[in-house]
Amino acid sequence: MAGHRGMVGSAIVRRLASEGAEVVTASRADADLRDQAATTAWIEKTRPDAVFLAAAKVGGILANDTYPADFLYDNLMIEANIIHGAHKVGVEKLMFLGSSCIYPKFAPQPITEDALLTGALEPTNEWYAIAKIAGIKLCDAYRKQHGANFISGMPTNLYGPGDNFDLNSSHVMPALIRKAHEAKLSGAPSITVWGTGTPRREFLHVDDCADACVHLMKTHSEAGHVNIGSGEDITILDLTKLVCDVVGFKGEIVHDLSKPDGTPRKLMSADKLRATGWAPKIGLEEGVASVYQWFLANKVEHVGGAVHG
Ligand code: GDP
Repeated sequence: MAGHRGMVGSAIVRRLASEGAEVVTASRADADLRDQAATTAWIEKTRPDAVFLAAAKVGGILANDTYPADFLYDNLMIEANIIHGAHKVGVEKLMFLGSSCIYPKFAPQPITEDALLTGALEPTNEWYAIAKIAGIKLCDAYRKQHGANFISGMPTNLYGPGDNFDLNSSHVMPALIRKAHEAKLSGAPSITVWGTGTPRREFLHVDDCADACVHLMKTHSEAGHVNIGSGEDITILDLTKLVCDVVGFKGEIVHDLSKPDGTPRKLMSADKLRATGWAPKIGLEEGVASVYQWFLANKVEHVGGAVHG
């Protein structure tokens, strides 16, 4: 397990607990995954049967724009070192995780897996996206040349425990949960959402994502990548209403039109994943309710491991 402290990695670790699997994790102190010798040594020492590659340098639009070299270099090194090391040591199965930002900016929706490399990327996160595309191709190349059973999964927007609830750097879901909660507590008449509320986004609870990863690790052995999503999207306004209902905030919803809407729609096709026999189990309302409980219990001023994309 590489990347066990992030939101996805920690969900996979929780999910594996119910499998009776022995989970070994690579912490920063064990190995700097950008360092080839240290990474190979860690894989040789632990000799895992299977590797979930959920380690990555992640961040939002601002971080990508400010540290493009770090986003490209760190992510290329991490995946190249782990994938090559896993091959060298003879790891039986590896699953590489990316995100939906690998797809062209104007890919037809819902985005099917074959849209990869059919058009230009969103420029603001292309550093991260290029590294993730290279990771998919590394898995395919080691499969083709060496017969390695390495697969890739590309999750949609995830939400869940351990998310980043910092309003300046978070994604929309944790931001809305926090805003609705604080407005309720302070008795504010309204909460402010960014943009028009008309953009549509897809969401998947991170525990569903972890469950899909374990399912694919057990059952899927093909070149190419698989989208990991719910296959359904919702407008930001409807999401805001849902979050307000769950939190119990009854005030108005106000739009801050000075903030960007971003892309109008981002929905991945879930057909390939469904065809493997997996479907999500956590509905959006139930998922938001459980994350709100986690938020209350953890009172976070927390900058977590949300995957950008
Ligand atoms: P994106 O999916 O890459 O665009 O990332 P975000 O999750 O940050 O934003 C999704 C949509 O939610 C955009 O249309 C935002 O304008 C909208 N949104 C509304 N309120 C908020 C907020 O408080 N924080 C964030 N991050 N997005 C918000």
